[in-house]
This record gives sequence, structure tokens and C-alpha cells, in this order.
Amino acid sequence: MIRLLVWILLGYVVYLMFKGRAGKKDLPKETPVGEETHRDPVCGVYVAKDDAVVGRLEGERLYFCSMACLEKYREQIENKS
Ligand SMILES: [Zn+2]
Repeated sequence: MIRLLVWILLGYVVYLMFKGRAGKKDLPKETPVGEETHRDPVCGVYVAKDDAVVGRLEGERLYFCSMACLEKYREQIENKS
């Protein structure tokens, strides 16, 4: 009986995964005008939210163009304190 429940649960998880994938496919590929962009605090480049490297530093959400910039920013914070 327990084994049956496990299989049902497994099936449900697989179903959710397929559903999620199908939902993503339906999204338009072209990004709408006014796409959310964030300024990289290190190099000053504007990066699209989807392409950005997101860093959570000191409780703040920051967006970077690359991991290198994230690391630089982290170093700057560490040097300050
Ligand atoms: Zn950068």
C-alpha cells in the first residue's frame, strides 16, 4: 500500500515537471519592450534580469554581468569592513 502511494507521488512529481516545462515553452521568446534591466554596480553595464548573475549580498539582491564582477563586489564589501 505504501509502495503504491510512493508511485502515485512520483507520477505526480513527473507530471508537475512536464507541466512546468510545457508552460515555459508557451512564453513568448521575444522579450517585451521595457524588459527589466539592472545596473552592474562594478562595471556599470546594464544587464537584463534573465541574463544577470544574481548575488545576494548583505540582504540585498544585486545583479552582475558576470561572476567576476560579483566576486569583485564581494571583495570590496569585505575590504570595507
Ligand atoms: Zn560587470
